[in-house]
Amino acid sequence: MRTLGAAFSACLLLLATAFAPITQSYTVDSTVPEAGGCPQPDRWNLSLAMPLNRQWSTAIPSSGAILTLAPTGSAAQLDEIEQVITDSFGVWSGVSGTILNAAANPGAIAPLERTGIADACSNDSGTNIDGLNTICFNQPSAGFTFGVLAFTRVISANAPGVSVGSSGPAAFTGQILDADTLVRNDGQEVFATRQALSTPQGVGAFDLESILTHELGHWLGLDHSAVIRAIMFPFSPPPGQFLGNRPTPQAPDGPLADDDRTGVRSLYPDASDAVNVGTIGGRIIPANPFALAALPSPAPGQFVTGIFGSHVVAVDADTGSVIAGTLGGWSCSTANPPTAQFDGSFLIQRLPVGRNYLIYAEPLIGIATAPNFGVALSDLCGAGAACRMPAVDTNFNVRTLPALP
Ligand SMILES: [Zn+2]
Repeated sequence: MRTLGAAFSACLLLLATAFAPITQSYTVDSTVPEAGGCPQPDRWNLSLAMPLNRQWSTAIPSSGAILTLAPTGSAAQLDEIEQVITDSFGVWSGVSGTILNAAANPGAIAPLERTGIADACSNDSGTNIDGLNTICFNQPSAGFTFGVLAFTRVISANAPGVSVGSSGPAAFTGQILDADTLVRNDGQEVFATRQALSTPQGVGAFDLESILTHELGHWLGLDHSAVIRAIMFPFSPPPGQFLGNRPTPQAPDGPLADDDRTGVRSLYPDASDAVNVGTIGGRIIPANPFALAALPSPAPGQFVTGIFGSHVVAVDADTGSVIAGTLGGWSCSTANPPTAQFDGSFLIQRLPVGRNYLIYAEPLIGIATAPNFGVALSDLCGAGAACRMPAVDTNFNVRTLPALP
């Protein structure tokens, strides 16, 4: 029996202190093929008839961890929670220029189902990896370490043909087969719907929609972003606050930052999109190559020839807006089999054309640091013995020419 890709966990953390402003990025998770080779981006196979099934467990905590305007235990309460889930999906399917877009591809995301099973998400013992993509509010997990409000387990195939539960066989390496989100329930934190957030009881509650929208970004294959305004920033907005703009029928993707949109476009590009088709790539290398860190041993034939793990950002030169960023540092080698090589390369795709961009690289020494990107970074080598991932390089300064506006 074939093994699966590792059970990747990605989470949203609670930040106890106020944030200071830093800049932005989109980063994707990936999977190294079982037979060796370069990491392949994790993404759904949207060529299937019903590619992205989804359900949520109506087993909600009785302790009041989920705050609604509707009375606890009522059918209306379930409807109110379900609306939050629907709206959170709608944020991502509202992005233009992707085949997830509800208008362009209405069948991409299947109808939202309910299950009464509390333990419906893939649990710590590795069971319930069932190919059913589920949101759970009342399931314990050792993954809820200090400060973790919610997390998402994403299971991807490390070879074509791999399947889990009812997922059906994967067509390609990196195909996501199962995604489950668990929301914390330890009697401490309260999560509120948008209606309940503005009530006196909602003071001190976290906005459930912000948190689910972030977690659903993980469902789609996105990792964290170092952009403080991005929904994929690893830390939650403070209690009582919604990140960005609430979705509206006119702007369903309102809560996202351009960085989030660029990320989802890069994973699920719409071939008919003629606007977001620009690509900027290059390498980040230090002035003094002797400043580069060595690889951990043994790494036969592998060298670090560029800065690994820098945050590379594309800024619209005319507006000053951050459009996208990425985690720079690697490319695919021409070795046989190919593997990740750590040459400082970066590639930012799906940029709007007809604009001027400034590119800069910065070390991950802000609020979002290397551990917040641990999954994306460790994905690069997989379980293969030949590949060794270097430590994230923060030993450089940002210089921009011309000066940023
Ligand atoms: Zn997260």
